[in-house]
Amino acid sequence: MQTIVIAGGGAGGLELATRLGDSLGKAGQARIVLVDRWPSHFWKPLLHTVASGKRAAQATSVDYAAQAEGHCFTFQRGDMTGIDRAARTITLAALTGDDGTEIMPQRALAYDKLVLALGSVTNFYAVPGAAEHVFTLDDVPQAQAFHQRFLDGCMRASARHAAGGGDEGLDIVIVGGGATGVELAAELSHSARMLARYKVHALDPVRHVRIRILERGSFLLPHLHPRLSRRAARHLRSLGIKVCTDTAVARVEDGVVIDTEGRAYLSTMTLWAAGVEAPALCRTLDLTVNRLGQVSVGPTLQTVDDPAIYALGDCASLVNPVGGAIAPRAQAAHQQALYLAETLGRPGSPAAFAYRDYGSLVSLGPLAAVGVLSGTVGKRKLQVGGFVARWLYALMYRKHLMALHGFARMAARTAADWISDRISPPVKLH
Ligand SMILES: Cc1cc2nc3c(=O)[nH]c(=O)nc-3n(C[C@H](O)[C@H](O)[C@H](O)COP(=O)(O)OP(=O)(O)OC[C@H]3O[C@@H](n4cnc5c(N)ncnc54)[C@H](O)[C@@H]3O)c2cc1C
Repeated sequence: MQTIVIAGGGAGGLELATRLGDSLGKAGQARIVLVDRWPSHFWKPLLHTVASGKRAAQATSVDYAAQAEGHCFTFQRGDMTGIDRAARTITLAALTGDDGTEIMPQRALAYDKLVLALGSVTNFYAVPGAAEHVFTLDDVPQAQAFHQRFLDGCMRASARHAAGGGDEGLDIVIVGGGATGVELAAELSHSARMLARYKVHALDPVRHVRIRILERGSFLLPHLHPRLSRRAARHLRSLGIKVCTDTAVARVEDGVVIDTEGRAYLSTMTLWAAGVEAPALCRTLDLTVNRLGQVSVGPTLQTVDDPAIYALGDCASLVNPVGGAIAPRAQAAHQQALYLAETLGRPGSPAAFAYRDYGSLVSLGPLAAVGVLSGTVGKRKLQVGGFVARWLYALMYRKHLMALHGFARMAARTAADWISDRISPPVKLH
């Protein structure tokens, strides 16, 4: 029986393990093994809601061990550190506990086929000081660290304000006006208001919690039509968020961000959301990578160097024959997981993977979103905004839950979330 190892249990990897487990694993035709460095999965597009405090990560996480048990695959926790292509094994680093002692030694895991689904990490573009002084949103602990600093910052500023500190407040600078930066800014603005309503702080949520987005290009959300970008910018400004376009960051220092024109922006906390690249590990695997470190794959998602190794999602580089490079998005990881679930384990050579861009939606807080839908009404691109767009945006996560748990459990979870939303405060208060 062949062993298929999937390294990375994110948007693409966990869906693939679940589907392969339900098909090949259940039929005893293959052993499916999922590897991840964390014990549970969190859908990355929701990370900004953990950072803003709208969502507790635990409530939306999926335990890999539980998912494995229900879907006929096995889960191995560990940090993948290398591949031995000759021996067809991957190496997992020793697992250590919170106290630093070793729980499990370094291990080698054998594969017949290996799927790299390692995602991406923040790209600092070598801007001096960025890596040392900013927060990032690559995983749950980083989002939780940002949220804790945000809460502490609000309460500290509030205490100083109460002690007569004048216009003391909190300056939050978000570098990057793409989807992550825009979504986080809108959610933070909402959280600041909610925390004031629940009297966690006594600040004016607009005057004292000052949120600023710095974007190098002339528009926010450069992947959308300028009309939608303007609409998003108007919405953010109406929330009191400062939007600075044509502003490229030259360096970051403790408490200040400096742009290429020499302008300085005071910053109590800075979040870097200016782009992503593949994890550094990808450059060390002796596989061909592009300038972002993404592993080059051919039309069947097999790496160009080794047909036994596949790559999907953010860590893979596949040029779409009809539309250039595929952007690092959850819908690409999902489509590639679906494709590999169909083709891995089947004899013969499969048809090439074909990517379909269904558009993009960007949340502007709890009540609004903007975006474009394509491929739903003929070939036309449909621009959407407001509450309808926000509702469609929420459906994306429900679709992911359906891929993992099926319709009935997704519906039950949606109902549970609805009830929980009605009986709990709208944001985390501590
Ligand atoms: C705040 C935010 C908002 C976003 N919003 C959207 C959106 O609205 N729409 C959209 O389409 N996309 C969105 N994205 C992008 C989307 O999240 C990614 O494109 C998608 O998650 C990629 O899926 P993936 O499976 O390739 O990687 P990921 O989902 O990132 O999963 C990678 C997995 O690999 C594991 N891993 C990494 N390295 C190792 C290692 N060495 N050993 C073991 N395990 C490892 C990680 O723990 C993780 O579980 C957003 C991203 C962010 C950060």
